[in-house]
Amino acid sequence: MKLTVVGCSGSFPSAESACSSYLVEADGFRLLLDMGNGALGELQRHIGLYDLDAIFLSHLHADHCIDMCGYFVARYYRHEGGRCDALPVYAPEGAEQRLTTAYADTPSPSSMSEVFDFRTLGSGTFELGPFTVRTEKVCHPVEAYGIRVEHGGRSLAYSGDTGVCAELDALADGVDLFLCEASFTHGKEDIPELHLNGREAGAAAERARAGRLVLTHIPPWTDGERNLADARAVYGGPSELARAGAVYEV
Ligand SMILES: [Zn+2]
Ligand SMILES: [Zn+2]
Repeated sequence: MKLTVVGCSGSFPSAESACSSYLVEADGFRLLLDMGNGALGELQRHIGLYDLDAIFLSHLHADHCIDMCGYFVARYYRHEGGRCDALPVYAPEGAEQRLTTAYADTPSPSSMSEVFDFRTLGSGTFELGPFTVRTEKVCHPVEAYGIRVEHGGRSLAYSGDTGVCAELDALADGVDLFLCEASFTHGKEDIPELHLNGREAGAAAERARAGRLVLTHIPPWTDGERNLADARAVYGGPSELARAGAVYEV
């Protein structure tokens, strides 16, 4: 699998990066994990606007899904070739309504579903293109999912937004690459059931015996290097901060 960090800023974009969005590719299939603020522009650095095969939205906070409004325009009003077919979008319940409201004036209440085939997420395992995917409801103020993607004996997990929880540990168990959020700073913002800090992300990676840890969703006002040091204090494997444009062969 090839993983490309399209955007990795937490909560709002930074000068260096759009918000959460990660492209996972294998066998020519392209799955996008989240499409936060600014991600649609960055995505076009890596693939064509219409090259996606499926989208997974971890949850409906704006920093994970709001560029779906712009992508609706691109697919609904496509200049060449006419309106796009409905692209599978795996998202929590209410995604169509949420995005339709955010867009504000779609031609009809069901316009979104003409170009997006919304499929309601739950916890479970299913086949998605060439991937075996497992989703688990994680711990966040709104319904939110983490995801594990497997292909050809290799695996990666993406936390989405979450506090410490057993479901996250289950998704990350033995993965080759663990893309884990670290929004908070250890000792400063230890708020349960919302986000992880660097130490908690490191501890989750250590419990899971993850092969590699990539910290992501670090907001512009948070010191990423400190979070990385906190993670390294409790996780013995290779670890780094996500950077926009980074590519990993998993
Ligand atoms: Zn977020
Ligand atoms: Zn969130």
